[in-house]
Amino acid sequence: MAIERVGIIGGGQLAKMTGESAKKLGIELVVQTPKSNDPAVSVAKEVILAPVDDSVATDRLATHCDVITFENEFINLEKLQPLAEKGVCFRPRLEALAPILDKYQQRCYLKEIGLPVPKFIAVESQKAIESPFGYPVVLKARRHGYDGRGTFIIKDRQELKDTWERLERPSMMLEEFVPFDRELAVIAARSLAGDIVVYPVVETKQKEQVCRWVIAPAVVSSTVISQVESISRTLLEKLDVVGLFGIELFLTSDDKVLVNEIAPRTHNSGHYSLDACQTSQFEMHLRAVAGLSLASPQLNCDRALMVNLLGYEHSQDDYQQKRSQLAQIPQASVHWYGKTESRPGRKLGHVTVLFDRENLKLWEKTARQIESIWYG
Ligand code: ADP
Repeated sequence: MAIERVGIIGGGQLAKMTGESAKKLGIELVVQTPKSNDPAVSVAKEVILAPVDDSVATDRLATHCDVITFENEFINLEKLQPLAEKGVCFRPRLEALAPILDKYQQRCYLKEIGLPVPKFIAVESQKAIESPFGYPVVLKARRHGYDGRGTFIIKDRQELKDTWERLERPSMMLEEFVPFDRELAVIAARSLAGDIVVYPVVETKQKEQVCRWVIAPAVVSSTVISQVESISRTLLEKLDVVGLFGIELFLTSDDKVLVNEIAPRTHNSGHYSLDACQTSQFEMHLRAVAGLSLASPQLNCDRALMVNLLGYEHSQDDYQQKRSQLAQIPQASVHWYGKTESRPGRKLGHVTVLFDRENLKLWEKTARQIESIWYG
């Protein structure tokens, strides 16, 4: 049966960009999101106005679409399980999501299937907190962290104790600090028929735990690329997943790759694919969940730079002037998410710039130019 309507839980920029790609495939998007001014509302065929963890609303969403997918990992599996049992089709399946929604359980799962990860332990509320990994060390919320919220890089024993006490001693994950050389990421998708595509490996640059820019492809050895590709394939196959995942990794100075985190959805590190690849991550995700064959993830340029436009003040400005200045950069595409309010650190849009063989090296200068136009 051809899938005509896809439901998505979450109505932020990822759902919006998915909705824009849906048109090309003749698919309509139905969105479950709490606010009528959320970014994806403008592209949705229908909207169920409700919080993302409202399973009664999801039950209603199911009557308006053929399959349901997700925009974020704030998924309440327990509440959705009865819907799956009565035949609501979730892609990815809830069973494929179960091992990866909690960061600690995700790490245990990755280790169990033989993927390389940093050393980690669970921190339990009833015991005293100690680092077996020395310092610095990284303390992470097990769920609901994003854009570095919930990730704390801790310099010594006292700070570890103070931070955990301040958070009221929740159950968390403590992991070794990885003195990485660079951070990498990759997008991979798996179809209903079991075919897998892996996008080019990219380099990501974080500042204060938030992604500032992405460069595709990453300039790394072929051994690193094959390690990342093999990690992606193993993960998607073991989970028997249908859909698209973002995988974040650390690359050490001796060319070792460690998996940092899996996002079971489209991902910021794949936004460049909208302008720079034969098939964007949003279209690819839809293809997978709609049971279509996958398409080529190849780059259609020699290099692409994606710079996030992060909020730097509290404002309701739509920054029209800065956006048109950015659009004047040769080969640039400005994507604006249409959020009605800016807050420091909030993702408001992104810019992608394509480069060919002749001007490959210009990317660093262009990244600085974009950041100076945006942040002043
Ligand atoms: P989030 O889910 O909020 O994106 P991450 O776990 O991906 O949180 O961490 C955000 C950033 O913090 C990473 O991209 C990296 O720069 C830094 N970081 C996270 N874990 C470690 C670690 N173990 N060692 C060194 N840096 C880390």
